[in-house]
Amino acid sequence: MTTDAVVIGAGPNGLTAAITLARAGRSVVVLEQADEVGGACRSAESTLPGFIHDLGAAVMPLGYASPAWADLPLADHGLTWIAPAAEFGQPLDGGRAALAYRDVDRTAAGLGKDADRYRELAAGLVRDWDRLRASILGPLIRLPRHPITLARFGLKGVQPATRFVAPAAGELYPALFAGCAAHAVLPLERLLTSSFGLLFLALTHTAGWRYPRSGAASLSRALASYLESIGGEIRLAQPVRDWADLPEHRAAVFTTGPPALATIAGDRLPGKTRRRLLRWPYGPGAFKVDFALDGPIPWAAPTLAEAGTVHIGGTIEEVAEAERQVADGSHPDRPFVLLAQPSIADPTRAPSGQHAVWAYCHVPPGSDLDMTDRIEGQIERFAPGFRDRILARTITPPGGLEAMNPNLVGGDVGGGSHAGTRLLFRPTISARPHRVTGRIFLGSASTPPGGGVHGMGGYWAARAALAGPLR
Ligand SMILES: Cc1cc2nc3c(=O)[nH]c(=O)nc-3n(C[C@H](O)[C@H](O)[C@H](O)COP(=O)(O)OP(=O)(O)OC[C@H]3O[C@@H](n4cnc5c(N)ncnc54)[C@H](O)[C@@H]3O)c2cc1C
Repeated sequence: MTTDAVVIGAGPNGLTAAITLARAGRSVVVLEQADEVGGACRSAESTLPGFIHDLGAAVMPLGYASPAWADLPLADHGLTWIAPAAEFGQPLDGGRAALAYRDVDRTAAGLGKDADRYRELAAGLVRDWDRLRASILGPLIRLPRHPITLARFGLKGVQPATRFVAPAAGELYPALFAGCAAHAVLPLERLLTSSFGLLFLALTHTAGWRYPRSGAASLSRALASYLESIGGEIRLAQPVRDWADLPEHRAAVFTTGPPALATIAGDRLPGKTRRRLLRWPYGPGAFKVDFALDGPIPWAAPTLAEAGTVHIGGTIEEVAEAERQVADGSHPDRPFVLLAQPSIADPTRAPSGQHAVWAYCHVPPGSDLDMTDRIEGQIERFAPGFRDRILARTITPPGGLEAMNPNLVGGDVGGGSHAGTRLLFRPTISARPHRVTGRIFLGSASTPPGGGVHGMGGYWAARAALAGPLR
């Protein structure tokens, strides 16, 4: 029997593509190489029993804001979003910290002499957010519905993060911005890095840095359960290595990396397209450590105890230096560490009084250097006594991430480098980036709007298939 669509990969984008197709009344089969759904959005008791750790993504402001999921009944399928008291924080030496709250004024009040500047910036982002969201979470080459709002964002976002915040009166505001901009995984002196800072600040004051109760896997399971409830089929432990592994279909939606698609589709693609996809460049990797702690992290700045996410790297100059070193192929002694402490607001994540902590830093692609000591050193710097709280740790180097999920090439968490124009145009400069050929589509993090748990790449790829062979 021929299925309308086959989707390769059951991560957030694959499941969203399949849901979009099934809701449009098309038959759909999802093939997933792993023995569970979720891709880089999964959880496991990876340190000790009772401590639930996220194996990939942990905190999902983009997911909570995702237009693709806004009207799905995911709560009926087990999803509850957790909102911590503070969205994120960034410590500085001397027991200081910048805290970002949903409330703009409360955030600004903690930024000293930069308060007015921050208030003005954040108020503009909040005002524009609804219009920006539609433009940013879709392919960029099309007529924007709100060109003036997008241009206003673009003029700021195109700037290097280091330049955007200069000159600042204090260290807290630039540090807060740097932590958001560093999600670009690029040196902060590069053009366009401010767009990440602005996007994550806009999300701070609108959606919030929420995360799924009981771990990232709850979101993936809710998506899968809803998909099955509307007739979609998921086949686990089904790696697609060759075109012959696909059932008969009218459209194929890949949520793999571009090189994997090119290899599987082979000469079904024009030579030029195939060569371009095979050349897709990946960015730096991640070195990840999960900690089981016998108590909360002893932050020197006590307000950090209420932040779901903590960006650890010190001043903007230090964060910029760390990211520059990674881009140059070396390992910073003081890396920029992304840390989540979900159990501060979700008691299901760890035994009573104990905590599950997720942390990673950027490293050169495929690096096999053990960064555990440097990550712990950075946390200890801002939370003296942290090491004494560790009951167990689990290390996942870039190679471990790729072994878990072939999309994470060299440990790249974002589906490919953001250097040059690739932040805007993925995987190629095209008016229809999700359509590879007449009946082959790509919807992974290597397509607009890029990495992160939001499902929008899959959504747009499914929409392209529905406008094409599945019309
Ligand atoms: C360590 C880490 C931390 C992260 N932190 C965050 C975060 O906090 N917040 C956030 O929003 N994002 C985060 N991300 C990024 C986010 O997880 C990804 O961008 C997102 O999961 C991409 O979704 P996807 O569906 O495109 O790909 P994936 O989630 O990678 O899913 C792809 C799926 O396809 C399957 N697959 C691949 N090839 C084949 C094949 N040939 N045959 C069959 N199946 C195949 C894989 O097994 C996988 O299940 C993080 C990622 C990592 C790794």
